[in-house]
Amino acid sequence: EKMQMASAREEKILVLVRLRPLSDKEIVANEVADWECINDTTILYRNTLREGSTVFRGDNATMEVYEEGAKEVALSVVSGINSSIFAYGQTSSGKTYTMMGITEYTVADIFDHMHRHEERAFVLKFSAIEIYNEAIRDLLSTDSTPLRLLDDPEKGTVVEKATEETLKNWDHLKELLSICEAQRRIGETSLNEKSSRSHQILRLTIESSAREFLGKENSTTLSATVNFVDLAGSERASQALSTGARLKEGCHINRSLLTLGTVIRKLSKGRQGHINYRDSKLTRLLQPALGGNARTAIICTLSPARSHVEQTRNTLLFACCAK
Ligand code: ADP
Ligand code: MG
Repeated sequence: EKMQMASAREEKILVLVRLRPLSDKEIVANEVADWECINDTTILYRNTLREGSTVFRGDNATMEVYEEGAKEVALSVVSGINSSIFAYGQTSSGKTYTMMGITEYTVADIFDHMHRHEERAFVLKFSAIEIYNEAIRDLLSTDSTPLRLLDDPEKGTVVEKATEETLKNWDHLKELLSICEAQRRIGETSLNEKSSRSHQILRLTIESSAREFLGKENSTTLSATVNFVDLAGSERASQALSTGARLKEGCHINRSLLTLGTVIRKLSKGRQGHINYRDSKLTRLLQPALGGNARTAIICTLSPARSHVEQTRNTLLFACCAK
């Protein structure tokens, strides 16, 4: 098991699978759990083995999911390497739950890194956006005017006018996260209604330079971004993805989610040929943190419930394609 996990880390895209426990509500409704985790690499479906090199996690604390690999990908940002961590899965499978925990652990570790390296001057910036119906919105602003994507000759694709806050401390992060949460709920008429259709991207950009060269000509700044991407519910695209249907204008699937699936599949095959980053807002925006030297992790979240079996299978299929 240890060996399998080590080899998974060296792969271009790290894929983790997380099975949440039945919720209290599901238990009260006599829902049955058909899926069970028995160790780090094996999942059971109605007592039938499903082996895979993917690391399956049970109802462990998010800290364990973080330590098992997400941490290494997220913290590559302190070495100047861009990265993206995705949560992929159907609505209610645990994407937001997992992603929030991982974002917080990463920020805590980055603050720790900053304190241990007093020889460098750091600036940690935070921004948050949502992509809904291919429109980008700033989650740190009450202005709901869609933001445009611009091609910056130096920085690559940038979101025009997205608010960037310099993170002061832990309480500041908590405050910003609750602003995002409130902004994300605006216009939502039922629980999970909008968050199941939109992607939320929290971005941390860390800039640092050696103090001894500050203000001097030979001073260089190291800069990198880590993206925490809480994707729209995969039920919006899984059918089209598994049948390989082409993206059609006007059909009711999520363009960004579908394009991401195609991009991830190409990247996992060693990025031969053209990669269609420009086909969606999400992939265009994340391009600097997906291709090249960037690190990518995908956490596929599963519901154990019998009533969700079809979506659970689709998510596992996606996990296999992404590896
Ligand atoms: P999603 O974002 O995929 O729609 P959520 O993250 O909102 O799903 O999770 C749905 C519910 O399940 C929430 O009430 C959440 O607290 C709970 N939940 C999700 N994952 C876990 C887990 N691993 N352990 C315990 N509760 C979880
Ligand atoms: Mg959610």
